[in-house]
Amino acid sequence: MSDPAVLLSPGSVREPRTDSGPDITADTGGREVWAALGAAGRIAAVFRDGDPAAGVDPARLGELLADVDARTGIGSTLAVSVQIATAVPLLTLARGQDQEPALRAERQALAGTAVVALAATDETAGSDLAGLRTELRIGEAELELNGTKRWITNATQADYFLVLARHRPGRHFTNFTWVLVPASAPGITVERADTELFDGSGTGHIRFDAVRLPRDHLVGRPGRALASFAAHIAVERLAGALWGIALCRRVLADTKRRLEARPTADGTLWQAEAVRQRFGRCLVLVRQLQALTRELGEPVARRHDATSAALLKSSVALTLEEVLAECAHFQGAEGFSGTGAQRLRPQAALFGIGGGSTEVVLSIVAGAADTVLAELSP
Ligand SMILES: Cc1cc2nc3c(=O)[nH]c(=O)nc-3n(C[C@H](O)[C@H](O)[C@H](O)COP(=O)(O)OP(=O)(O)OC[C@H]3O[C@@H](n4cnc5c(N)ncnc54)[C@H](O)[C@@H]3O)c2cc1C
Repeated sequence: MSDPAVLLSPGSVREPRTDSGPDITADTGGREVWAALGAAGRIAAVFRDGDPAAGVDPARLGELLADVDARTGIGSTLAVSVQIATAVPLLTLARGQDQEPALRAERQALAGTAVVALAATDETAGSDLAGLRTELRIGEAELELNGTKRWITNATQADYFLVLARHRPGRHFTNFTWVLVPASAPGITVERADTELFDGSGTGHIRFDAVRLPRDHLVGRPGRALASFAAHIAVERLAGALWGIALCRRVLADTKRRLEARPTADGTLWQAEAVRQRFGRCLVLVRQLQALTRELGEPVARRHDATSAALLKSSVALTLEEVLAECAHFQGAEGFSGTGAQRLRPQAALFGIGGGSTEVVLSIVAGAADTVLAELSP
């Protein structure tokens, strides 16, 4: 397992902590970060009126993600982001449904005393959720779950899995249902994902073999899961944009310090015009992303607007790719050291995959071309 203190050392790419929040450091795992945030009341504070059903406040979500990103590794920040943006708000579907386990999990998650993994991606292509195979048999009193979920954040450190399963064959969007599965239920096998990346995220694979649960472990009404997933993944895309801005800002600031401290025959690397122009381009890209996020954050947070979320998701992936590549290149050989930006690039590539690959979100943008074009008119 790689050392997160090496991946993201406070002495290199981090900035001094400026708040009085909980004690989170570069090597704090995602579960501990979540517990610290919950104990300090900072998870509930991200939601309007402290209520996950009311949606996130984009500004407060951005501040929290920037703070967590500044203090711990990519993996631990991922563990927080997925829960706040999707898993916890989805649990509120249980309200008014006589589904006490999900309501209890929501209370525990807000307090930081339970971690909830969002298990949507199956053995089949994640880009084609309607093809997923995990099956939920819904009986009069009992549920039975069979299937496998792969590449799930928090899998190895969760208390609950919020599982997207099918209760009927076929691709129709009403064939899918959420079920809340306690990690301790018999019939569950969890395996760590085979990767050295994303330390602290607890990413892994989960197998469900005839897992039996009382019927009140359903979350929301059967048949509504895919529609609610589509709505809530929009917020994960917004969270990705907010986090991406913070990540770019942090790495650009660190890179500028490095360039300023690197003497050459004519001064420092920072004084070389070609370097400054490329750095300037990075600043333009991040400011564009920030402007877009400020404009589209509210439509996503309030209406789960899919086109806005897709615009943000595709923008952050493309921006991060270019900005981190430039920063890593500017760092020369040092970029490959434990504290260098080259180490960040493979992890940041997740922004173009997790929560929907760039191609998939670009298709959503193209699908709304007339709306986007109309919005471009003066
Ligand atoms: C670290 C990590 C954490 C994750 N956490 C979670 C989690 O918490 N919960 C969860 O449910 N899932 C999670 N995932 C899974 C993630 O959501 C999926 O990886 C993602 O949805 C893509 O699915 P896939 O990997 O099956 O890729 P595939 O669907 O197999 O796609 C592979 C590639 O094919 C291309 N492609 C696919 N579809 C199209 C298309 N329509 N048009 C053009 N090209 C296309 C793209 O280049 C794409 O990247 C995580 C993944 C990682 C790596």
